[in-house]
Amino acid sequence: MASAIRHLNCGTMAASLSMGGRLLPARLVAHCLLLEDDRGLTLVDTGFGTADLIEKRLGKAFVRLTGPSLDPAETAIAQVRGAGYAAADVTDIVVTHLDRDHAGGLGDFPGARVHILADELAAARARSTLRDKDRYVTAQWAHGPRWVEHAPAGDAWLGFEAVTVVNDNALLVPLPGHSAGHCGVAVRRPSGGWFLHAGDAYFSRTQKETPPSTPTGLSVFQAAVQKDRTSRRANVDRLRSLHAEHGPDSGAAPEETVTIFCAHDAVEYDALADVTD
Ligand SMILES: [Zn+2]
Repeated sequence: MASAIRHLNCGTMAASLSMGGRLLPARLVAHCLLLEDDRGLTLVDTGFGTADLIEKRLGKAFVRLTGPSLDPAETAIAQVRGAGYAAADVTDIVVTHLDRDHAGGLGDFPGARVHILADELAAARARSTLRDKDRYVTAQWAHGPRWVEHAPAGDAWLGFEAVTVVNDNALLVPLPGHSAGHCGVAVRRPSGGWFLHAGDAYFSRTQKETPPSTPTGLSVFQAAVQKDRTSRRANVDRLRSLHAEHGPDSGAAPEETVTIFCAHDAVEYDALADVTD
């Protein structure tokens, strides 16, 4: 079990100040996790990395849309060092998918194994559609990460398919739709229960509530960036059920309580930023 879990914001985006102001919530984060245990550190997602800031490789259209702060202090590597560690202490990285706001920090940890669903890596390498050519910034993994590709093999977690990565306390949970091999990452909490990092399976906390609601602009945005509408919508529904049946207010047993958050909802992040686990 991870002996500690930290919540990191590795990329504030101020859509209210950008062209995305009508589509996206005013403030977005890039919610990542840093898992510390005896054998080393594991990062879940990486936000924006050093080279994104220096080389301006995110692309003008993306920057205009999302208004990233590009603050060096927000990079995962800066926060790992701030916690008293070195880049080499990060032995493993688990990525929900390879969009540029999730994969940017990979190059700051060139020695780490990078765990990913095989379908996502295949899609990112193939870049077979215009949309995929735009979404995947290959420079972010031009250093040649030590990819560890995973595929479901019959394991289950609370009714979802699951794939063990790193150790028994970190699971890939396939949630395709936003991208081809998009997944969530379930992490067992030292204090009991689980976190589920849902990546970009949804963007607003209101989508996991019952009844759900989605801000109008966000509906347009999600549809514009999705790979597969049917599976994306089905997965939002599954996450809503999971939240209702296993969320912190569900009355579920402590060991089966799941706190779900997505990558970009700032309110979800703020509620967890100072939780020590
Ligand atoms: Zn994202």
